[in-house]
Amino acid sequence: MRIRFWGTRGSLARPGPSTLRYGGNTSCVEIRADDGTLVVLDCGTGAFGLGQTLAPEHARRGHLLITHTHWDHIQGFPFFAPLFAAGNDWDLYAPGGEGRRLETTLAGQMEHTYFPVALAQMGATIRFHDLVEGGFTVGGFRVAAQYLNHPALTLGYRLEADGAAVVYAVDHEPHLREGPEAAGLLSGVEGAGPVHPEDRRHIAFLAGADLVIHDAQYTAEEYPGRITWGHTPAEVAVDYALAAHTRRLALTHHDPLRDDDSVDRIVEVCRARVRASGGALEVIGAAEGLTLELSRQEGGAREPEWPASPPERRRGPETVLVVDDDPAVVDVLADTLRLDGFRVLTAADGEAALRIARIERPAIILLDWHMPRLDGMVVARTLRAEADAYFREVPIVLLTAEVGAEGTKEGFAAGVTDYLTKPFKPPFVSARVRVWLTRTAPR
Ligand SMILES: [Zn+2]
Ligand SMILES: [Zn+2]
Repeated sequence: MRIRFWGTRGSLARPGPSTLRYGGNTSCVEIRADDGTLVVLDCGTGAFGLGQTLAPEHARRGHLLITHTHWDHIQGFPFFAPLFAAGNDWDLYAPGGEGRRLETTLAGQMEHTYFPVALAQMGATIRFHDLVEGGFTVGGFRVAAQYLNHPALTLGYRLEADGAAVVYAVDHEPHLREGPEAAGLLSGVEGAGPVHPEDRRHIAFLAGADLVIHDAQYTAEEYPGRITWGHTPAEVAVDYALAAHTRRLALTHHDPLRDDDSVDRIVEVCRARVRASGGALEVIGAAEGLTLELSRQEGGAREPEWPASPPERRRGPETVLVVDDDPAVVDVLADTLRLDGFRVLTAADGEAALRIARIERPAIILLDWHMPRLDGMVVARTLRAEADAYFREVPIVLLTAEVGAEGTKEGFAAGVTDYLTKPFKPPFVSARVRVWLTRTAPR
């Protein structure tokens, strides 16, 4: 398996003398299996260079896996030459599950206001695949897709071929973000493991990979001012990779404010962190033009843990129950979710929440922790204890201003599915609700 980086910058292209070594183009990685299968991960501005360089015989058939449709992951799409050549045959994949979401989004970027050529005028045969979490096959690759934590519905991809495994996880933020553990999210690396089950799930996704290409947009020092922006401090990327026993970590999605020397310093800090841990992880900074060969390793590849084909997403308008004694919070959540096409029911206290949940059986319950009389933790425990299996399965998400490691443990012990931290950003709410509803693996 051969990997080449074409775009390593996050958020915004930043060409210029200060970014010559690591590159200024946004996200794009080329991966080729030994059998010739071509996969392109993300289509930021780096895709332009890849498209120009691919020999015609190599561009005829390809697979484009998009993590999400923020600009820095799709702006190179209208400039990706292989899609304009008649006779070429490309498959495009991105998170969706709600019909023609990917095609509509990409076509929107190419409306005449923004671009002179419409999507429908591209010469290649293009097939669009809206993904949820799951495993599937792309030519010679086995692929597993898993949701990341970002203010847009975002998938990470694990690709396995030729006895090697690579994971691409950009635009992801740790799930446990507050409290002393958050600085070294995985302070439990040596002990019990990270507190938040979603962080443990992320580590399992990276487990044993030969190469992890991971978001490392911030430093641990910068991160407290960037919470909910959807990116990982480089030090936490190291902790994830160490906990997952991966062989090599490529830090990527470099912040546009970062010059080459400051990326060098981050790489050095991360290498020192590995040495201090006693681990054997190799850390590099992903650089435009860098090519890596992954060869067969003992125990590198593993079977994805989910079904071979992604299941159909539940259809029809789903009901969300929002419970909070603060009407302003209810309004923000209800407005966001109604715009996303959900039927929204609301309650202002725990008793009403129990009553509505039993009658309406919503697809998901967003539940304030601190309410007078019956608080959210009690409501969660009560629902989980009901005999009906529905109450054991329905996602219950606790709304809270702050939750450290202790609160997190208490909630998960009470049967809470996850937390949503106030104040809410509507895109984060939309993305997380979709994740909780489409998640298919056992919680
Ligand atoms: Zn990005
Ligand atoms: Zn993004």
